[in-house]
Amino acid sequence: MTELLFRDDAYLRSCAARVVAVDERGIQLDRTVFYPTGGGQPGDSGVLRLAGGTTVAIADTAKGASADEVVHVPVPGAALPLVGAEVTAEIDWGRRHRVMRMHTCLHLLCAVVPGAVTGGSVGDGRGRLDFDVPGAGLDKDAIAAGLNKLIAEGHAVAPCWIDDAELEARPELVRTMSVKPPTGAGKVRLLDIDGVDLQPCGGTHVKNTAEIGPVEVTKIENKGRQNRRINVAFVG
Ligand SMILES: [Zn+2]
Repeated sequence: MTELLFRDDAYLRSCAARVVAVDERGIQLDRTVFYPTGGGQPGDSGVLRLAGGTTVAIADTAKGASADEVVHVPVPGAALPLVGAEVTAEIDWGRRHRVMRMHTCLHLLCAVVPGAVTGGSVGDGRGRLDFDVPGAGLDKDAIAAGLNKLIAEGHAVAPCWIDDAELEARPELVRTMSVKPPTGAGKVRLLDIDGVDLQPCGGTHVKNTAEIGPVEVTKIENKGRQNRRINVAFVG
């Protein structure tokens, strides 16, 4: 089991950690700032720095057998550390910050576009969501204007936790429920964009919508009778 430091502070770029397992899948640490692929957000890349100055380049991060198990996937051919080794785990912050900005932007897209979300993906500098909406009523420029308005307004963004019973008793807490939250573990992590959007999410986000910066809707694709794919990218 790995302590998931990014859950409470998405701005942590590095942490001290100890290697607890090494196998064909990769390297596990007792704690980490590396986000594993999940919820439409890609896993982090970065580096593990060992005592003595050697480094292990990490190409990707994946979930292990359980949700709290994080596997740091080294680049092919990397010399692996020994179990028990002390390391400094450091993510590629430039890439992660762009992913956090775009991930937060996709929450805004949920608020701008009516309709259930059926899928999505966050990339480096771009992202997309699929909406279950019929016809051709979606307007690229209107959606971009709606997004940029919410971005410029500077809404606070923060995760919060509620327990399963509270979620069940107060379903109005969740305005956009694209994915039924995993209940049963006792508590559910929500992402709250003040006055804009509240929904279950385990990813990493910026602290304020103003940090996202200007975006454009690059295209709206028809992916089936009731499925519209909205693609968003940073301007410039
Ligand atoms: Zn999210």
